[in-house]
Amino acid sequence: MDKVSLIKCNSYELDQVEYALENSLKLNGGLENYIKPGMKILVKCNLLMKKKPEECTTTHPAVVEALVNKLKAIGAIPIIGDSPGGLFTPRLLRGIYSATGMTDVAQRTGVELNFNTNSMEVSFPEGKIVKKLTVMELLQEVDAVITVAKLKTHGMTLYTGAVKNLFGVIPGMTKAEYHLRMNKIEDFSDALVDICEYAKPVLSIMDGVVGMEGDGPSAGVPRKIGAILASSSPHALDVVCASLVGIEPERVPTIQRAVERGLCSYSLDDIKLLGDSFDELRIDDFKLPVTGEISFLHRVFGSNSKLASLLNHHLGPKPYFNHDKCIGCRDCQRYCPPQAIEMINKKPVVDLKKCIRCYCCQELCPKKAVEIRRSWFFKMFK
Ligand code: SF4
Ligand code: SF4
Repeated sequence: MDKVSLIKCNSYELDQVEYALENSLKLNGGLENYIKPGMKILVKCNLLMKKKPEECTTTHPAVVEALVNKLKAIGAIPIIGDSPGGLFTPRLLRGIYSATGMTDVAQRTGVELNFNTNSMEVSFPEGKIVKKLTVMELLQEVDAVITVAKLKTHGMTLYTGAVKNLFGVIPGMTKAEYHLRMNKIEDFSDALVDICEYAKPVLSIMDGVVGMEGDGPSAGVPRKIGAILASSSPHALDVVCASLVGIEPERVPTIQRAVERGLCSYSLDDIKLLGDSFDELRIDDFKLPVTGEISFLHRVFGSNSKLASLLNHHLGPKPYFNHDKCIGCRDCQRYCPPQAIEMINKKPVVDLKKCIRCYCCQELCPKKAVEIRRSWFFKMFK
C-alpha cells in the first residue's frame, strides 16, 4: 500500500518548513532510504514562469532550500532545475531563477542551478502513448529525480501536482509539440503519465503551504492549505492532494490515466495516510477553474467518451483576451501550439477553429490578460 505523509506547516519560515519536511520524509522511511551519498539529484521544482514566490505560481524557495540542505547533509549532490513554459535558454532560466528565489537559494546553499539547455531523444517502449521522448539532457546526468511540486488548479488538467510537474523535463517549445500531437485531454494526460513513469521520481514532495485556487496554474489566487506532503508515489500523492482541496480524484485526467494503469486507486482507503490529520486540513471550498465545470460531461458519458470531448470542444470554455490588461508581449502567440493566435494592432486575436483548448496562453501570460470564459450555450446547457 502506498504511503503519503502530511505534516502541518503554516508559514514559509525556513525552520518551520525544515521541521515539516523532516517529519514528512521520516514517515516515508527517511531521505536516506532513497538517496545515497554521492548521488546527483535533480530537484525538479515547478518554475513555470518569472513569478515571485508570494505569487504562489512556483515552488516556494524555502521548500527547495530545506530539501537541498537535507540532501547535502547526507552527501548527495542536488541540482535545482526545470524547463519552464516557453523557451529553454540560459538567459530565460537566469531571469526565472532570480524571480522565483532560486538564485538566492543557490547562493545560500552553494547548490548548482541547471543551465544545461540541451535536449536528447530517448526511447521508452514501456510508454503507453509516447514511446520516444525528447527530454532535458540533464536527466541523463543525474542518478535520481525528486519532484517538488506546487499544489494548484490547472485550466486543462483541473489540478496540477507531482505528476504534471514532470512535464517540465520536456524542454522548452517541445512541450507545445506534445500539446499539438496529443490535443485531446485523454491522450495528453496519458502522455503526462508516460513522462512521469520515464522520469521515475524516487520521491515526490508537495509544497502545499500556500497553493493556488481558481484560474491556476498562474492566473489564480493564492490559497493557504497549510501542509507539506511527501510520498514515494507521485500518483498516490496527487490522489491525496487533490482530495485535500476537495477535488474528486475521479475528475483529474492524470489520475484517471494512472488508475487505468493500476498505478494508484481513487480511494484514500487504499493509501496509508501518515502524520497530521487530513480531515483537519481538508478544504471544501477550494475554487476550481472555469474549465472544471465542464468535466461533468466525462462523468456522464465516461472518461474516454469522444462525445464528451466533442461537446467539451464546442460548448466548453474558450480563451478570451482582455486587451485592457494586455501589454502586447506576444508570449501567447509565440507559445500557442497550433498557432491559433494572430496579433492585430499589437493585441492577440484567437481563431477558435484552430484552438485546441490547451490554455497555454492563459498559463504563460505574464499579465493575467487571458481569461477562460464559459460559452453562453454551455451556461444554458448546464
Ligand atoms: S501573453 Fe498576455 S500580455 Fe502578452 S500579448 Fe498575450 S495576452 Fe497580451
Ligand atoms: S489560443 Fe490558447 S487555448 Fe487555444 S490553442 Fe492557443 S494557447 Fe491553447
